[in-house]
Amino acid sequence: MNHQSLLLGMLFGALLAMAAASGNSSDSMALPADNEYLHPNGIQMRFDDTELWRIHNVSDALLQTIPVAEIMEQKFGGNIWKENSKFLDISIDKEQVKAARSFLVAHRLEAELLVDNVQELIDEEQLDGVKGTQAQPGSRTKKASRDGSGMHWNDYHSLDNIYAFMREIRAKYPNICRLYTIGQTAEGRDLKVLRISENPRENKKIWIDGGIHAREWISPATVTFILYQLMNNWENQPAHIRSLTWYIMPVMNPDGYQYSRTVNRLWRKNRSPSTRRQNCFGVDLNRNFDIGWNGFGSSKDPCSDVFRGDSAASELETQAVANFLAKRKYNLEAYLTYHSYGQMVVYPWAYKAVKVKDASVLQRVADTAVNRIAQKTGTTYQAAVTHQVLGIAGGGSDDWSRAALGVKYVYTIELRDRGAYGFILPPKYIKDTALEGWTVAETVVQAII
Ligand SMILES: [Zn+2]
Repeated sequence: MNHQSLLLGMLFGALLAMAAASGNSSDSMALPADNEYLHPNGIQMRFDDTELWRIHNVSDALLQTIPVAEIMEQKFGGNIWKENSKFLDISIDKEQVKAARSFLVAHRLEAELLVDNVQELIDEEQLDGVKGTQAQPGSRTKKASRDGSGMHWNDYHSLDNIYAFMREIRAKYPNICRLYTIGQTAEGRDLKVLRISENPRENKKIWIDGGIHAREWISPATVTFILYQLMNNWENQPAHIRSLTWYIMPVMNPDGYQYSRTVNRLWRKNRSPSTRRQNCFGVDLNRNFDIGWNGFGSSKDPCSDVFRGDSAASELETQAVANFLAKRKYNLEAYLTYHSYGQMVVYPWAYKAVKVKDASVLQRVADTAVNRIAQKTGTTYQAAVTHQVLGIAGGGSDDWSRAALGVKYVYTIELRDRGAYGFILPPKYIKDTALEGWTVAETVVQAII
């Protein structure tokens, strides 16, 4: 691209952003402009010198009744990235680093420094995305254009772009696609599900979702890739793929996703305002489903990152998905939900330390998926029961789909990586990671028949 067209491109991007901000954008009325590259109002949060730690032996401390994660979150403003039976990944702002360190030393806990400046990861992610899209029609600065979404997997995409991509697929295959708006969020965004089916009445069904947790950007990227894999060549897909009804929801938490893209890269929850605490927003949607809701692994504190909500299924997103699926539970054979990070394929239960009765079947299918991933990309994933590797947590959509709907093949896929970048996975890894996600879906589908 020469200098002049680059300038024109930037100007065009800025004009589009202004049009969107003034409400002229056809699809995003009254929504804030998604324009993270230009940062028009400069309100994006920064994480300069914020450190990411891995604290080992957390469960030992728990035995001595020290809730390390909770203390780090409440006393030192820590942001929990990942918590499991072996370790806790948590980021600490520079102002709190010293105090938090003394706390750990006092309790004989070791903190391994994973990242010494989280902002550098975020900057690198952005730069990598810009680099990867220079030759692409849909770049970071552009919104979905009239002649298509410009979808690609060299970078992460805005909600608008993802929805444009879904509309594009529907337009291309009107006879087998149906695009549902299953509800709205607290901030008024649509919740969209695409159904692909040659025979909706009789086919067995599979549900796939992504983006329950806002900051796990690789998840919507993977789910849109799955959509592409299916529809790019639908006519030539094998019978086991074409004979299913696919429900695909790339972004279950649109408010959170856009907030993570424009304001706080590390945001996890949705954005519903708390009725009890004025300055605290958001419910962890994956703690809000009506299964083991009031139990372990979630918080009743609206300021916590794992706030479960004031009641089970209190959130619009949870209600929309639960109602939609409850009406379609007949023949629903698989529920796949994509998260990051950790490189795992896990199955119920999460809310209690018990395996489902057909755990050996679920383990076998997960093992197959994991082996295929290793062959395809060389990446190591782990297949296991959720509570054993991620700890006990109630209110998850995966457990709910098994308990309330009786779905057999229920899997949560924790995509890349294992902590080097965490949620801030550089765009250059999207394609291979998405291929890994597709491999799991493909393997599960073969098991259904
Ligand atoms: Zn998640």
